[in-house]
Amino acid sequence: MTGPSETPAPVPFVDLRAQYHSIKDEIDAAVIGLFESTQFVLGSEVAAFESLFAPYAGAEIALGTSSGTSALHLALLAAGIGPGDEVITTPHTFIASVSAIDYCGATPVFVDIDPVSFTIDPAAIDAVVTDRTKAILPVHLYGQTADMDPIIDVASRRGLSVVEDAAQAHGAEYAGRRAGSIGDAGCFSFYPGKNLGAYGEGGAVTTSDPELARRVRMLRDWGAEEKYHHVLKGFNYRLEGVQGAVLRVKMAYIEAWTEARRAAARRYDEWLADVDVRTPTEVDGRRHVYHVYAIRTDDRAGLMSFLADRDIASGIHYPIPVHLQEAFAELGHGRGDFPEAESAADEVVSLPMFPEITPDQQERVVDAVRDWCTSR
Ligand SMILES: *Cc1c(COP(=O)(O)O)cnc(C)c1O
Repeated sequence: MTGPSETPAPVPFVDLRAQYHSIKDEIDAAVIGLFESTQFVLGSEVAAFESLFAPYAGAEIALGTSSGTSALHLALLAAGIGPGDEVITTPHTFIASVSAIDYCGATPVFVDIDPVSFTIDPAAIDAVVTDRTKAILPVHLYGQTADMDPIIDVASRRGLSVVEDAAQAHGAEYAGRRAGSIGDAGCFSFYPGKNLGAYGEGGAVTTSDPELARRVRMLRDWGAEEKYHHVLKGFNYRLEGVQGAVLRVKMAYIEAWTEARRAAARRYDEWLADVDVRTPTEVDGRRHVYHVYAIRTDDRAGLMSFLADRDIASGIHYPIPVHLQEAFAELGHGRGDFPEAESAADEVVSLPMFPEITPDQQERVVDAVRDWCTSR
C-alpha cells in the first residue's frame, strides 16, 4: 500500500488498457477470428455489431462507418443537405459537428447553448431559421442529450430534418428515448476514448427510416447498391471488420460500463457538493452517460496546474468555441456572439472519468480540488 512517503500513482484521464485487460480473452479471440475470416472491411462481424447496436440506440437500423465524422457527413447527405443549405448547431462542440456540415457544402448557423446542460438552447432556434435552413444538428455533449422535444417541435413546424450528434452519448436517454432514435438519424463515434470505443476509428448512423438508411448504406460504399453500379457519388466510409469484431464483443459490457460511469459521477457530485466549483447537472428526465465529467471554475488554469502537480490528469472540452476557430473565420463571428458558449469554453475542466476509475482515485481527485479551493 502507498505509505505517506511514497508518491501515489498518477490518476489518468482515461484508462483504455484497464478495460482491454478486463475482456482480453474475448477480444483476442474475436480479433484472431476476424483475421482468419479475412472479412477485413464490413463483413459478418460488422453486421453482427450493427444488429446489436441498432436496438441499443432504440433504432431499427444501424450502419457502421469509418468514423463519427463520416457518420455525420453521411447522415446529412442522406437527409438531402447540400450546397446553399443552412444547418443549425452550437459552437460549443468538437469541430467535427461543424466540419460535417461544411463537407456537404452547407453553411453552419450557430445557436448558443443552455449553460445548465451545455447543449443547444431550443428557445433560440426559431429566430435563426431561414428559407435556406434544412436541418438542426443538436449535439448531445458530454453524454447528456439536448432538450429534444422543443427541437423536434421547431423542426416539424418548419419542415427541417434533425440529425443527432450522439458521438458522446451511447445509451443516453431523453424522456425514456435513446439518443440516436429521436431525430431522423443519430450519429455515433467509436473513437477509442468514447464510451463505446473501437481499437481504431469507427462510427455509426442509426435511423428507423428505411429510405435514409438505404442512402447511407450506398454512400458509405461508393454510392453502389450493387457492386460497380454507382447510383450516387459516394465515399469510402466503411467500418473495418476488426473494429466490428471489437465492438460486437463490447456490446455485452456497454450497459455495465455506463452504470459504472454514472456511479462515479454520483460520487464526484456528492464529494464535491461542499467545494467551490460547479458540478454538472443531470437534467430531470435525462439519462446522462458521462462521457465527460466537466466542472466549472473561474480559474481553470490554476486548478489544472494544481492537479498536474499531484499527477492528476484533466482536460478541456473544448477551449475554443467553433465560431472563434480560425478555420471557420469565413463565418464572420467574433467574441460576444455566443456568450454562454464562450464562458463555458473559458471555465470547463474535465476530471478523470472512465468506467474502471476507483473510489480511491476519485478521492484523490476530489481532495486535490478541495485543497486548491481552500488554498487560493
Ligand atoms: C468524437 C466526436 C465526433 C467525431 O467522431 P470521430 O469518430 O472522431 O470522427 C463528432 N462529434 C462529437 C461531439 C465528438 O465528440
